Parts: sequence; C-alpha cells; structure tokens
Amino acid sequence: MASPLYRNDRPGQLPKSWYVASTDVPPERPPLYGHTTADVCIVGAGFTGLSAARHLAAKGLEVVVLDAHRVGFGASGRNGGQVCSGYNMPQRALAAKYGADHAARLWDLTEEAKDDIRKLCLAEVPEANYRPGLAEAATRPGEVADMHRDAAYLQETYSYDKISTLDRNAIRDVIQTDDYHGGHIDMGAGHIHPLRLVLGIAQLAERAGARIFERAEVHHIAHGDPAEIRTDKGRVKANHVILAGNGYLPNIERKVTAKILPVNSFIAATGPLGDLAAKVLARDIAVSDSKFVLNYYRMSEDKRLLFGGRPSYEIAFPKDIGTLLHERMIAMFPQLDGTTIDYAWGGTLGITTTRLPAVQRIAPNVVSASGFSGHGVALSGLTGKVMAEAIAGQAGRFDTLSMLKVPSFPGGPALRAPILRLAMTWYAMRDRLGL
Ligand SMILES: Cc1cc2nc3c(=O)[nH]c(=O)nc-3n(C[C@H](O)[C@H](O)[C@H](O)COP(=O)(O)OP(=O)(O)OC[C@H]3O[C@@H](n4cnc5c(N)ncnc54)[C@H](O)[C@@H]3O)c2cc1C
Repeated sequence: MASPLYRNDRPGQLPKSWYVASTDVPPERPPLYGHTTADVCIVGAGFTGLSAARHLAAKGLEVVVLDAHRVGFGASGRNGGQVCSGYNMPQRALAAKYGADHAARLWDLTEEAKDDIRKLCLAEVPEANYRPGLAEAATRPGEVADMHRDAAYLQETYSYDKISTLDRNAIRDVIQTDDYHGGHIDMGAGHIHPLRLVLGIAQLAERAGARIFERAEVHHIAHGDPAEIRTDKGRVKANHVILAGNGYLPNIERKVTAKILPVNSFIAATGPLGDLAAKVLARDIAVSDSKFVLNYYRMSEDKRLLFGGRPSYEIAFPKDIGTLLHERMIAMFPQLDGTTIDYAWGGTLGITTTRLPAVQRIAPNVVSASGFSGHGVALSGLTGKVMAEAIAGQAGRFDTLSMLKVPSFPGGPALRAPILRLAMTWYAMRDRLGL
C-alpha cells in the first residue's frame, strides 16, 4: 500500500492551510546524521510523540524525536481543532462494555486531557487560543433523544455540569441552519489553533532537553535491548521506543498496521466573513454533526468559516477539495452563497475498528498509540503523557488505555480500504436520503 507520508504533500513541507498562513513557523530543524544514543526514541512529531517527549525529558531522560517531515506535518498540524470530551464512543456504551469502574477511569483520563490543553494554552502556548464550547448536532429527529440521554448520563454519573441539551429551536438560535433537530453543547470542550499548539509543545519539549530531528523518516526498527532505529542518514540506539506515527506510519510495525486504517479528512477556509460570521454561528463555538459522513466546523479568529468533512479512504486527496466543501457548506448555510474559499487542505488520521485508540505494548521496550479516530486533539497528548509514565515505570494508566479492545481490520492492509469504501458509500447514501 502506498504511504500517506508522501502521497499528498511535498517532502518536508507543511500543507497550504489557513493554519500555516496564520502561524510563525520556525525554520527547519536538521535531519539526523550518523549515530546517536538515547533513553527513548520517538517516531513521529505530532501531539502524541511530542507530549511523550516533553514529559520524558522533564523526568530527566534523554529523548530523541524523529519526524519524516516537520513538526506538526501530520494530523496534529492540520485538524479541525476540536478539543472533544470523552472518546469516539459514548460513555454509557463504554460503561456497558467495560464496566462502570473502567469507564470512570477512562472518563477521568479524557477530562485530564482537556485540562492539560487548557492549562497549556493559558500558561505556555497562549497563541493556540483555546476557546470553550463544542456543540454536537443531530441531523435526524430520532437522534436527539439519544444525544440527550448521553448528556444526562454524564451529568448523573460523573457530575459533569458543563453539558446542556438543545432542542430544535435552541440549536437553531446558535447554529443558523435548518438542518439540525437538536443536540447538546459542551462548554467543558472547546477549540484551538492546532498548528500553533503542536509547535508550542515541540518548543517546550526542546526546552526540557529533547532533541528533535526533521526530515528523518524511520524505515526500520531492529528490536532488541537497546533497539536500533534507522533512518536514511542515521541511527539511534535507544532503550525504549515510542511509535507515534498514527495514520502516517508506514508499514514498519505489523502490530500497528493491522489495527490502523489511514483515512483522509478535508477542511476549507472561507475568506473572512465579517458580520456574516454571526449569521452562521451566533456563538464562538465549534460544531460537529451526526451525519455518518460528518461535518465539523467553527470560525477562525479572523472570522473565516473553517469547514471540515468528507472523509475518504482513498490514499490520494481529490483535486477540488475547496469546491466540494464549499458546495456542502452552502447547502447547509445558503447565506454563504457568494463567499470565496481562500484555503483548502486535507490530512490523514488513523481510525480503528472500534473507533477507540489502539494503545499497545509491541515489545517489552516498544510502545505505540494511534487510531484516535477523530478524537485525538485532546486524547493523543494525554496518551503521550501516559506512555511516558509507563516508560518511567508506572504502567497503571497505560493499562487502562491498552485494555480497550481494538481488533485488527478484516482483509489485511490490501483489502480493508476497499471494504470500508463500500461501507462508506452506503452510509453516505443514507445521509443523503435522510435515513
Ligand atoms: C483533517 C483532520 C481533522 C481532524 N479534526 C479533529 C478534531 O477536530 N478533533 C480531534 O480531536 N481530532 C481531529 N483529528 C484527528 C487528530 O488530528 C489526530 O488524532 C491527532 O492529531 C493525532 O496525533 P498524532 O501525534 O498521533 O499523529 P500525527 O499528528 O498524524 O503525527 C504523526 C507524525 O508521524 C510522522 N511519521 C509517520 N511515520 C513516520 C516514520 N516512519 N518516520 C518518522 N516520522 C514518521 C509524520 O510525519 C507525522 O508528523 C483530525 C484529523 C484530520 C486529518
């Protein structure tokens, strides 16, 4: 299977996104030349890898981070910026599957994940501009009761008082489209500028002592103690390895590849909307909806609509991302007719069969976390921190995550994408027919 690492982007270049245009991107760091050693070598400089790096370096360990392209090149630097509560499975479903105690520990982890982001944005990376509020909107009348039950479950089970339910009129007041029948709004969730956040975490990791190398693709890992991690130009001997390549990781570790399917998602940014912005979103919140082929959107700080969706299982991005998303947003918000699209880009994320993250111990000294399935902005950083704890000898929280059951995709790497494409076409058709 062709690798998403090189299919849609130029080597070493971030995409032409609004995020890049609105960020002071630092100069490229050098690749790794020759041999070096480390306590921990981390493959991938996104939220997962850099968060692990920062926490490990703060514990006094020698850390090397290798990225095939740049810091934030992957999903972390190009996503929808939504800092979600919980997992890509409602808490009551998690409790039914894993028991109330395990579900409560899982919930505590994601609460900490959001809290970590809020604190980072308050104290150390203010430019990431955390803003509270995330609405989930029902596109079918029958889904509203379920969403309200989910909200009530959080209120009653975890005393979570930041979520409130919305009926059809209430959601129409906030999100000015006729498409939605109700939903809920979570003021404990929010949205950020993801590229500025990931670059900020990289700086914090370096300040704590981690060494980051860019344009350093890992193409082989020789397992052992120490393990040897090889790039084109260099090698690292490390006592521990963390695999944090998520949807971009090529097939260098079969146990990861079997559980992760790379999926593309796309975002378009309109020109600045000025006063029209309030006629789309009356509040400065992010939104995601319940379409199987979901839409997610929010306003940028300069009042562009950043509108995402249209996932695809093809490795290649379509050429007309901007037009496709513009049509979709105008269908929902006719008031946007006549607006322009200034930026459009895509990215690859990793999903799993259960839509829960695959957190695994691959070998005694190799751990991996990927497949956050659209919930990674908050969850991936926390998982990096938890992997750092496991390497430092405290595996309790790592076990809480690694106990989540994530079966391999059927069909193996060759067949899983075609099988899922078929399923996707069916669900997209259901969305269009409103079934
Ligand atoms: C368009 C889009 C929108 C999204 N929206 C949201 C959202 O709103 N909210 C949310 O919670 N989640 C969202 N996600 C998902 C979220 O962005 C990811 O879950 C999260 O960023 C994963 O972080 P990561 O560090 O694990 O992986 P990534 O950020 O993808 O980083 C992986 C890194 O590994 C590097 N790499 C891979 N293989 C190698 C190798 N062999 N050698 C060296 N380096 C390697 C890559 O270059 C890359 O930089 C979205 C994703 C996309 C693509």
